Amino acid sequence: MILLILGPPGSGKGSQIEKIARKFNLKLIPSPGDLFRKIGNSEVRKYIASGRLVPDELVAKLIFEEIGDTENFILEGYPRNISQAETLKNFLTKRNKKLDKVIYLKVSEEEIINRITNRRICSRCGRNYNLITNPPKEEGKCECGGELIQREDDREEVIRTRFNIFRKQTEVLLDYYKQKLIVIDGEQLIQKVFEDICKELVK
Ligand code: AMP
Repeated sequence: MILLILGPPGSGKGSQIEKIARKFNLKLIPSPGDLFRKIGNSEVRKYIASGRLVPDELVAKLIFEEIGDTENFILEGYPRNISQAETLKNFLTKRNKKLDKVIYLKVSEEEIINRITNRRICSRCGRNYNLITNPPKEEGKCECGGELIQREDDREEVIRTRFNIFRKQTEVLLDYYKQKLIVIDGEQLIQKVFEDICKELVK
């Protein structure tokens, strides 16, 4: 099974993808954002800091290396526009594969701003916390012992840019994938969102 999860920044894709991957035995392909943050390449850093999309070729190369010849996997954060969706389609078609389902986590802009400004990530392992809904056990510290930090692009003005890019470039993918789309209310508790996704996937 090949899945893609879509949703605005802060819609909970990262939390859901881990659970889905475990339950359905899928390789979790890390999002381009996570891969870029690990590599720390200065060329891409300027795009990320301002909330703009990194050029398509750079993203495709990274993601396709991660996919390799894996049969069952779930994607997050890629594709994010029509051109990337076409590139992915060509990549899969050449390997006699196809995307089975696309999960869309629907969350309003106000909720997104609220969530992201409270988001903290571990500087060591990359795990996400939310100061209100999913706080760390010890203030400022991850379970792995790493220090929790706020992402540079999680400031309110950058979030608005990222949300606008989502609206302009990524939202059109809902129509592009309408035949395989599963729409989920992403404003519910994490566990309930997961249950709704599972129900739809086993239908
Ligand atoms: P994320 O962690 O998914 O919020 O992504 C953080 C940043 O990484 C985005 O604001 C973009 O600058 C870059 N990025 C992530 N995914 C993509 C993609 N599919 N195409 C281009 N840039 C991306």
